[in-house]
Amino acid sequence: MKALVHTGPLQLEYVDCPVPVPAAGEVLVRVKAVAICGSDVHGYTGTTGRRIPPVVMGHEASGVIEVTGADVAGWTPGSRVTFDSIVWCGVCRPCRQGRTNLCVTRQTFGVSTPAFRRDGAMAEYVAVPAPLLHLLPDAVPFDAGAMVEPAAVAMHAARISEIEPGDLVVVVGAGLIGNLAMQAARTLGAATVAIADIVPERLELARRLGADVVIDSSTDDPVAVLERAVGRRTADVVLEAVGVQGTIDLATALTRPGGRLTLIGNVQPRVEQDLQGIVSGELTIRGSAASAGEFPGCIERIADGRLRVAELISRVMPLAEGAAAFDMLHRGELGLMRIVLHPPD
Ligand SMILES: [Zn+2]
Ligand SMILES: [Zn+2]
Repeated sequence: MKALVHTGPLQLEYVDCPVPVPAAGEVLVRVKAVAICGSDVHGYTGTTGRRIPPVVMGHEASGVIEVTGADVAGWTPGSRVTFDSIVWCGVCRPCRQGRTNLCVTRQTFGVSTPAFRRDGAMAEYVAVPAPLLHLLPDAVPFDAGAMVEPAAVAMHAARISEIEPGDLVVVVGAGLIGNLAMQAARTLGAATVAIADIVPERLELARRLGADVVIDSSTDDPVAVLERAVGRRTADVVLEAVGVQGTIDLATALTRPGGRLTLIGNVQPRVEQDLQGIVSGELTIRGSAASAGEFPGCIERIADGRLRVAELISRVMPLAEGAAAFDMLHRGELGLMRIVLHPPD
């Protein structure tokens, strides 16, 4: 099969590789669409230590079951599927509590560290443990199917933030996850959703996708904009989807006393915190990682249109041109959200 192999810092090679052999309990998925995640672009620079070459990246994908390995029940060749990005065991304590994203032996597709290497979906085929699979209805095209994983990441963050009907929710960062988190918050009952960014094109997209209030924090005072628009200076829930000092400060400042701040982005490994504001305001601050159980709800919402993902796909390219796609994303071409790659038919 053809695969896009990460072979060194900023290097990708489109080469022939052996087709993976599904182990017992696994299926072989013929990949139809695979999206390039920001973490893949960050990882292929060689600075994160989580894409140690050689590795086939790709954890946001959809496809068709080609064959099932031994001991796989309930799945048949020809089924349209997507799958969890985290390979979890199902028997450890977090898994038994439903927190599969925290599985003690977890691996991520398309990630290699000193501890493990798990080839991902930037190839014609990928082997996937059957419990990770989710059926894609015909109403969800393969490209949208590759967006279920990032949608689930955003939905997870919104869900653990315990959004209550009538809440005002602010999302900081109108990138892909921010735009999905904004929509997820709406489907979980938020009455008003606002979103802040410094790139006007991203804010325009957010408005088209349903944001009630958009805040250009490079030119306007976010607190003043919020107060003008909805009569409040702070929100019940803030979802932070960038992860640098300035956006963490903004997110903290926009969280009301007693409110919830959920951190999704982690571009900078360490930031300073407004300790006094957090303590005196009794803020609840939590991290959010990947997803745990949100795939079915996201597939349903994408199918019925409550989660719009098509507008978040900037470009579709052949897998053979993957190196050029990564280069475009790495150079930060303006306005690019997700690029989806198609392996050869
Ligand atoms: Zn991702
Ligand atoms: Zn586990």
